[in-house]
Amino acid sequence: MPSHASRRSPLRLRHRPAGNNAGDTVWLFDLDNTLHDASHAIFPAINAAMTAYVARVLACDDDTASRVRVDYWKRYGATLLGMIRHHGVDPADFLRAAHEFPDIEEMVRVRRGLAAQLRRLPGRKVLLTNAPQDYARAVLRVAGIEHCFERVVAIEQMWVHGDLRPKPDRRMLRRLLARLRIAPGRAVLVEDTVSHLKRYAGLGIRTAWITGYLRSMTPSRPHDVPAGAARDAAQQAALRAEAQRHAHDRDADRAARQEAVTLVAAENQAPGPRLLAEAQQAGGNEGREAGGTAARQRARMVHRPGYVDIKVQSVHQLHRRMRRNGS
Ligand SMILES: [Mg+2]
Repeated sequence: MPSHASRRSPLRLRHRPAGNNAGDTVWLFDLDNTLHDASHAIFPAINAAMTAYVARVLACDDDTASRVRVDYWKRYGATLLGMIRHHGVDPADFLRAAHEFPDIEEMVRVRRGLAAQLRRLPGRKVLLTNAPQDYARAVLRVAGIEHCFERVVAIEQMWVHGDLRPKPDRRMLRRLLARLRIAPGRAVLVEDTVSHLKRYAGLGIRTAWITGYLRSMTPSRPHDVPAGAARDAAQQAALRAEAQRHAHDRDADRAARQEAVTLVAAENQAPGPRLLAEAQQAGGNEGREAGGTAARQRARMVHRPGYVDIKVQSVHQLHRRMRRNGS
């Protein structure tokens, strides 16, 4: 039976955060691949640690464990949820094992000036991450931005009626906004994971898609990032899986196409002919630009889905955009 002792972790305001907290906006910042480059070293390490954990629990080899890890992640949105449901693991134990990095100082990569940009961004800032609290605080500390956030809402605070409900669960976010007394219209969720934004857009919050650290088709949490031809094949498979996942949408064709465009465009590889055709068909400046400079440039974002209010590459760009808009 999983231990649920951590579910009552309070949402304490530990200190008054530094920086510009003025205005009505409340920024809900994701952590991995939003504020720092997790694909560089941390996600591969989490993948390896999770695979080892799965192998231990299932008493299987690493290849099988890796397949199970990815399968649960695809089916439930998090490997942890599959491990709880099918193997009764203790979530705290699993998360601790997957996020322990004695040398985290060498693994965290952030853009220069991140702390200053966050401080200047007007509005309250809350960190909202599916990662565990200790890991999130360690990353914030190494990145030098812990003081920018009024609270850290980690996976330990995402229990709803006895079940763990990480992002993109709607009940969890609705409940969190109510507990923090944040009107949905004031909240902006800042995320690299476009499927989270899609899921939450209907709640009345605004959404900001951070694209600068995206490297793979399936960027939300630890994932496989194979190299070369294997990576291309994996991306095609991920595309097909993504399209299937949306087969039950009312407008399945449109959804599949939209996902395909956004996810393919998110890649930092040269765009293929289909992407270029779609980019040019989209007709936007970015689309034309991507089409015109494809030979010498990495793929650019060519598409902003309707459920994304703001699309930027970085917090720096987000700050500039807000300043320009006077909000
Ligand atoms: Mg993320």
